[in-house]
Amino acid sequence: MSEQSFDIVVLGGGSGGYATALRAVQLGFTVAMIEKDKVGGTCLHRGCIPTKALLHSAEVADYARESAKYGVKTTFDGIDMTAVTAYRQGIVDSKYKGLQGLVKARGITTIAGEGKLTSPTTVQVGDDTITGKHIVLATGSYSRSLPGLEIGGRVITSEQALQLDFVPKKVAILGGGVIGVEFASVWKSYGADVSIIEALPHLVPNEDESVSKQFERAYRKRGIEFSLGVRFQSVTQNDQGVVVTLEDGKTIEAELLLVAVGRGPVTSGLGYDEVGITMDRGFVITNERLATNVPGVYAIGDIVPGLQLAHRSFQQGIFVAEEIAGLNPIVVEDLNIPKVTYSDPEVASIGYSEAKAKEKFGADQVTSYDYSLGGNGKSHIIGTTGSVKVVRVNDGPIIGMHMIGARVGELIGEAQLAVNWEAYPEDIAPLVHAHPTQNEALGEAFLMLAGKPLHAI
Ligand code: FAD
Repeated sequence: MSEQSFDIVVLGGGSGGYATALRAVQLGFTVAMIEKDKVGGTCLHRGCIPTKALLHSAEVADYARESAKYGVKTTFDGIDMTAVTAYRQGIVDSKYKGLQGLVKARGITTIAGEGKLTSPTTVQVGDDTITGKHIVLATGSYSRSLPGLEIGGRVITSEQALQLDFVPKKVAILGGGVIGVEFASVWKSYGADVSIIEALPHLVPNEDESVSKQFERAYRKRGIEFSLGVRFQSVTQNDQGVVVTLEDGKTIEAELLLVAVGRGPVTSGLGYDEVGITMDRGFVITNERLATNVPGVYAIGDIVPGLQLAHRSFQQGIFVAEEIAGLNPIVVEDLNIPKVTYSDPEVASIGYSEAKAKEKFGADQVTSYDYSLGGNGKSHIIGTTGSVKVVRVNDGPIIGMHMIGARVGELIGEAQLAVNWEAYPEDIAPLVHAHPTQNEALGEAFLMLAGKPLHAI
């Protein structure tokens, strides 16, 4: 039994928690970070990084299949999951080692164990009491299921999907949001048949409708099946696989069912309620400066309602450390946070969709322009189609950008600058884009909205 005191105690060492700790020690605070599993959290060990490694193997597989188109002789003999796993885990291990070294070098005290908030200034870890003048809750999220749908056997979440050591012949995926479509993309490229079930009318339903429609066309072309606007009813499993029944009576047989219906906050049983923190359906409620109603206690990342993204958690962690230091950091709203879906094709967006912009500012106050990647030289060279859509307020700034096509995730930085700086198309249209790059597509859209199109009609 011991007692230790710090300026800041961070509960959870994922993207949000470790970002808070790194920034806080930079600002001169003593910091304890309590982690029950591995520093790096979901993103490093079970999310962003391992999934993107799987997607990169998928892209290589697709290139191998299509190499003749580019004049390269090769044969595609299938996927070696043992080698894919070694490659994926090698990346995770190396990033993990780097992060552990960084945390140690910066002088953060890492405490291994499951923490429970016992008062506004204390966290209990086993027999030890850790005291902090300020406490930052960053306990992350878990894969949700639906009522009556039990995870187990052939019904899996993204965690088990990442660990598979074989390529299934056929997979059913419940949920056509970001995690569902990323796994669909991987498995299709690895040679599986894939069928997605989405209750809303579109795949990637949180994106601009024009992007969702293009995405559906691309998936259809790839031979990925999907049922839209229909709810899951039940699943039965046996030794061979699963039979999924939808509310319209349709059945889908598959080897596995991946449940990708969203992520719930990890907050239950951690003392948050007992200490009097305001909660809503398991999420921690904060003000816009990420303070809970209990003085001195902050919450960040996936446990705070809104976008569940690693870079939002990083930003919120840095924000809270600076807030505690009295630096009065700038609040970043979810609308100003970029989103990328890493599939084939990729989707990247920021700000208002065209529909939301029209709802907010009035249909006659908003103009958008959708530049087809068909007009972009680099997109032609790498064999992709898609588009870049820019939404502006008439005689006003750019308030949304929505892109689809191979590698468009790499274009989000420029889109983000335009939206976050509330740039007018007229101001940024004169910027020169290197030729040939996919960034030129953004330039073409800005030029069009500024009334002086170059290649666009
Ligand atoms: P987490 O990273 O979940 O960290 C919380 C940490 O708290 C964990 O390490 C946990 O062990 C620890 N913890 C919980 N309770 C306790 C306790 N009582 N005591 C001690 N420790 C505790 N986001 C992106 O931006 N880009 C992507 O490409 C992307 N891909 C994803 C793919 C998948 C399959 C998944 C599942 C997620 C993906 N995400 C992606 C989302 C991203 O991983 C999360 O938004 C991010 O990890 C949230 O950070 P966090 O710090 O809030 O929580």
